[in-house]
This record gives sequence, C-alpha cells and structure tokens, in this order.
Amino acid sequence: MELVQWRLLPLLTLLLSAAFFYVRRSSETSHSDCSLHSYTHYWIASKRIVTPDGLISGAVEINQGTITSILKEADWRARATRDQFIDYGDAVVMPGLIDVHAHLDEPGRTEWEGFSSGTKAAAAGGITTLIDMPLNSEPSTVSRETLKLKTDAAKGKIFVHVGFWGGLVPENALNSTALEDLLDAGVLGLKSFMCPSGIDDFPMTNITHIQGGLSVLARYKRPLLVHAELVQESDEKEDAVSDAASYSTYLRTRPASWEQAAVRQLVSATEETRAGGSAEGAHLHIVHLSDAGSSLDLIKEAKSRGHSLTVETCPHYLAFSAEEIPDGDTRFKCSPPIRDAANREKLWEAMMGGDIDLLSSDHSPSVPELKRLDEGDFLKAWGGISSLQFVLPVTWTHGRQYSLAFEKLASLWSEKPARLAGQKLKGAIVVGNHADLAVWEPEAELELDADHPVFHKHPSISAYMGRRLSGKVVATFVSGNLVFKQGFHATAACGATILAR
Ligand SMILES: [Zn+2]
Repeated sequence: MELVQWRLLPLLTLLLSAAFFYVRRSSETSHSDCSLHSYTHYWIASKRIVTPDGLISGAVEINQGTITSILKEADWRARATRDQFIDYGDAVVMPGLIDVHAHLDEPGRTEWEGFSSGTKAAAAGGITTLIDMPLNSEPSTVSRETLKLKTDAAKGKIFVHVGFWGGLVPENALNSTALEDLLDAGVLGLKSFMCPSGIDDFPMTNITHIQGGLSVLARYKRPLLVHAELVQESDEKEDAVSDAASYSTYLRTRPASWEQAAVRQLVSATEETRAGGSAEGAHLHIVHLSDAGSSLDLIKEAKSRGHSLTVETCPHYLAFSAEEIPDGDTRFKCSPPIRDAANREKLWEAMMGGDIDLLSSDHSPSVPELKRLDEGDFLKAWGGISSLQFVLPVTWTHGRQYSLAFEKLASLWSEKPARLAGQKLKGAIVVGNHADLAVWEPEAELELDADHPVFHKHPSISAYMGRRLSGKVVATFVSGNLVFKQGFHATAACGATILAR
C-alpha cells in the first residue's frame, strides 16, 4: 500500500504542476476559440503600417482588443518578447475595412447568404466591420421588433463586427414616434429607396418621406442613406427591349437620367442640412453612385455650398465596363447599372480627386436560380453583385493604374466609412482605437478559380470568379482576435453586434 503511494506521488506532482501551468497560461491567453493567436497582449510588426501620419515601419501594440501603442522600428524589437510578437515583414498592416453597405439576408433569406458565411467572407477579405442593409432579409429591418430579429439571428454567428441600418419606408417615414423607436433601438442610421427595391416589404419613399426622415435623424446626428434612382418615362419602344440577353438592353432600361433626377431632388432636400438650416445635424449619403456625369456635378456643387452630403461608389463600377459584359452574363446585373468605360474613367478621377468620399461593396447575393444564368435574361434576373471577399484586391488591382496609395485606400475603405457609421474608435491605426486590422500582401497574385477558397455562400454567382487579382489578405484581426489567417478562420464566431446609443 505504502509502495503504491510513493509511486503515485511523483505522478500527482506532475499532474498538479501541469494543471497549474494550464491555469496560468489560460489566464494569459484569450479564449482560444475566438482567436488563432493565443495572446491578448502582443505586438504586430511590419515594414508597412498605414497610419494617419503616413506609412511607418514598426509595430502596433495590442492589449485586450485595443491599440495601446505604435512603435517605430528601432523601439519595438527591444520591447517585444519573443513569443508575443507577430512579424509580418513587408506585408501591409492597415485598419480593417469597414463595409457600410452589405446585404446578409438573415433572417428569412439565409439561403441567399446569411451571417455565418457572409462574415466569414468578410474576414477573409480583410473586412472587420460591416453594416448590414435593412432589406433582402425577411422581414425588413423597419422597427424595433424587426431589428431584434436581426440581432438575435446574428448571435454566435458573426466573425466580424456587424452594425445595422434601419429602413425608412412610407409606413414609418412621417411617423416620428415610429422612427424614434427604431433609432432608440440602435440602428446606426436609415436607408431608403427612390425606386422600387425589388422587395415587397420595402416600398420606395418619395422626397416628402425623405425630408421627414431627415428631420428626425437631425436630432440623432445619424445619416440617411439613399438609393438614388428615380424612374423616368422611357422613350424606348417595347420591341427595342426585346433582346433580354443583351447587356445593352438592360443598360437602356436604367439610364443615367434616373440617377440625375434622383440626385436633383436629394440636393434640394439637403438644403436645410446646411449650418443654421432646420435639418442641421442631418446627413444624407448617396449609395453606389454609378453615373459620373451630371449626377456627380450636382453632388459636388451641393457639397461646395455646405450641404451635409457624401457619396460612395462600389468596386464593380470601377472594375468593369458595359462594353466588356458578355451577353447573357447576369452576374454583372446590378442597379444602378455598370456604365461604359468612359464613365468608369470619370469615376476613378472623381474618387482620386476626393469628390467620391468612400467605397462600399453593395454585396447583394441571391440563390443562383434567381440569377437565371441558364437563360441569361438580364431583365428577369435578380440584380446584385456578389463581391464581399474580393473588394480589397479588386480596388487595389485596378487602383494601381491610378497611383492609389495605401493611405488613400485606408481613407476610402476605413476612415470615411467609420465616420459615416458613427464609429469613433474605428477606421484608423491610432492609440486607443479598436484593434481591427487587415494584413495583406499587395504583390501577391490571386487566381479566382475553382481552387481558390471563397466563403460566400454562392461563389458561382460572383462576376469576379475567373479573374486574376493582386493583393492577398493574410490575416484579419477583429478587436485583437486573429479571426482569419492564411485561409483559416477561428473556430468560434466572436464578432459583436454594434448598436448606436
Ligand atoms: Zn444595396
């Protein structure tokens, strides 16, 4: 008996010390399911870190999900202990992308995308926060109750942070109590359509509704996002639009004059957002501008007169042109439509010149059947480009011809979107901000073929498949958690829902 005890004692000691080591170690590490890196206090080093003061070589110190210091090259090596830093060498360390325009379609149309696959794709693309659109889910997010359905559905499924826009629809637009209730529930702002949205429970608003919305939003200092296309009487004869497989047919059904008519109304509606106006504090943001003609001129002029107005465009308007869209290839259908190459050039000029404020994905997938790729019918196919995971390499690949700098990229994809969504502690690598970061290799090439890991629910409907792009995301950090690394995600989805207070 005694002999057995003596034999057990060393074993017991070993077990106890192992247990002690385990407890000690786990108190030092983050909960390992949320992050592929075990420490919560560590340094990320790189020769190319994008800060508001320019590109630096050095390290970013992260502690408990926050950026706690930024060290220059000479200083960081002495301070970081061996296993607490990750050296990314030449890879670019940038603030994580903030996509203010994505349709994740959950609850109700999870078969189109959903929070899980959508945020996995976002993480794989360097996006650390996305703001979900109030439509294409079922029901639409137009009240406190429907927002609750969204936040409940997102629980435990989101790999990046997710905020929500609410819907401004005729039912609530002139009812300030209803709008206040929706805003008090935490939507970051509102979104409305000036043309049919394609979703039955998300009807279009007229300019009176928009003004009603703006007057309530002024008190909350939150933005109204508007889909700016106003249906105009068509001069097209029915037989002229008979070839539904031809992209030019579709393009003619949504001419630039629709965007121009809508922008004209919005510019007059934002008159009162100027300093001293009755809607001072309100802000109007035009989503996915395609027309770089007089729509853009009207926006520029209103901005110069002090209207609180911003505008975004999307990578697909910068990457594609009408001339190159094959007949029947409905993957390219979206609204407003992709216009000609000359228009695309003007969009780039406007963006590089600062007249377009920011970029968003307008990731708007559906089930493949609704894209009707077999028939190739542009008029009947669901409109929407599927792009979430690719927006960074697409912007970079095409932007290089326009001398797009990393700092400009960070402004378009992080800093300005953070400002629009009211996220003061996001969008830039500065001390005190959330440690939401994208690490990527600008020189690495991607072949978007069948072997490329794509996390969208339906990769086949993306117009980018088959393309060759530059810029590979190697790591994505969300509040200090390494949620994506070289093709792999953390096992648990630990992103947070963002509600305005
Ligand atoms: Zn959209």
